[in-house]
Amino acid sequence: MSGAVPESNDADVVVVGAGLSGLRAALELHRSGVSVIVLESHKHVGGRLRFFDVDLHGSTAKHDVSAAWLNNTTHSEMFSLAKTFGFDLINQYVSGRFLHQKKYGSVVSYPLGFGADILHPDVRGFYAMLQRLAEAWQGPDRKALDSVTLKALAEANGDDKQVAGEEADVLAGRLFGTSAVHVSALFVIDMIKSTGGLQSMLSWYGAHYRIRQGVGAFASCLSSMLPGGSVQLGKEVVSIVQSGPLCYVTTADNVTLRCKKVIVSVPHTQYGSIVFHPPLPRAMDALATDTTDGYYATVVLEFATPWWREAGLSGSFDSAPGQGPVSVACDTCSEQDNHYSLTCFVVGETGRRWSTNGEDQRRSEVWGHVRSVFSARVDEASIPDPIGCVIKEWPQRTMAVMPPGVLDSEAGEALGKPFGNIHFVGAETSDVWKGYMEGAVRSGIRGANEVVVALGDSLRSHL
Ligand SMILES: Cc1cc2nc3c(=O)[nH]c(=O)nc-3n(C[C@H](O)[C@H](O)[C@H](O)COP(=O)(O)OP(=O)(O)OC[C@H]3O[C@@H](n4cnc5c(N)ncnc54)[C@H](O)[C@@H]3O)c2cc1C
Repeated sequence: MSGAVPESNDADVVVVGAGLSGLRAALELHRSGVSVIVLESHKHVGGRLRFFDVDLHGSTAKHDVSAAWLNNTTHSEMFSLAKTFGFDLINQYVSGRFLHQKKYGSVVSYPLGFGADILHPDVRGFYAMLQRLAEAWQGPDRKALDSVTLKALAEANGDDKQVAGEEADVLAGRLFGTSAVHVSALFVIDMIKSTGGLQSMLSWYGAHYRIRQGVGAFASCLSSMLPGGSVQLGKEVVSIVQSGPLCYVTTADNVTLRCKKVIVSVPHTQYGSIVFHPPLPRAMDALATDTTDGYYATVVLEFATPWWREAGLSGSFDSAPGQGPVSVACDTCSEQDNHYSLTCFVVGETGRRWSTNGEDQRRSEVWGHVRSVFSARVDEASIPDPIGCVIKEWPQRTMAVMPPGVLDSEAGEALGKPFGNIHFVGAETSDVWKGYMEGAVRSGIRGANEVVVALGDSLRSHL
């Protein structure tokens, strides 16, 4: 342990990380009368919530480049925060036809809700199997499902192994930015179950919203509800020492804070960047060493007009691997601001290869791909060039992915469980909407409640 321990730094609880989960935990603690300090390594709050401002036509719009969508049915915590903060909700544009680019490049269109009709029977069979497993699975098959990859599960159950295996790669790419050979089948099924099923997780059915203010506003509003000075930016936590009833949290600039409990909200792939004393149990350590991150990049193309809407298209398309860098794209306009954009996701190995190109090349490959898909339905001469383009890469900060043998092991069981006076939150630790914003805030509330109960009478005693 190093660094001075000024009394003014003492708090009942130190929260590590000012993403959604850490900030929501801090707010819950504050409301329960617990003093709390949040330490965040970056110079901004929000973690994986990122947006940027675009100034066009004399107005500024926020463009989300990571999380963007929430719904008003199963995202109850997030939706209620959006209402509390008075955010303007933008209805996801789903009018007009959707486009699907097939393996050999041909493009088909379909109306909302009828995407499944155009899919190969083995692709439909693959999704039906995942849905069945997520609905019916009660536990006994856990071990078997965690001993195979998503790819192997798909291939073993499809008449055409290649078609089923390729679709497994598509799904793993879109969800985690990786290939299906790196993902446990159980891990995916568990995630589907946590979101309420495939329909709820993958389709635009039901009301989906974006936030006109940008999702980063959730983090700044949560932060502003805490007492001044409780959120400290540019404070990377490098060690957490548990000694008797107290914890000592030290930052890279050698400041140590003393507290009764710590809440760690960093994704479990990053636990290794903090030195724990005593060390984390082997099972928890494995959450960092035996899991991986995928590759995700977001590319926002800004246009002077929503030309795809004018052509009767929703702006959403998905593309089979091998046709170009874009895996999926959709309309992300903010009409009130006169901003018209398509947001494209470039994922997995395709994304990693694409990312080695210079910026101009990356832009031109993405735009070339988008243009080629839309030109199957829109007269090419009426497709204008973008007037702006922003690329944001997520090489290590997407979602922690578990290969076979982790979830149904001591490591999987340790996820989100306390270790002494240290409690763990984060989107990946949630049983509901695992990996999503809703999961992040729910985990924050869960972690704060755990701490309040554990603190019990000690809340009345000073450090
Ligand atoms: C490209 C992309 C698209 C997404 N789309 C959606 C979507 O449409 N809908 C949806 O619901 N979700 C979506 N998500 C997921 C959503 O963004 C996350 O689930 C959520 O933001 C995670 O919040 P968190 O608090 O668990 O973790 P994080 O946001 O990762 O917060 C952890 C914080 O800890 C900080 N930290 C790390 N190490 C340290 C340290 N040593 N010391 C101090 N601080 C540290 C980090 O800087 C970070 O601020 C998307 C994510 C990505 C990347």
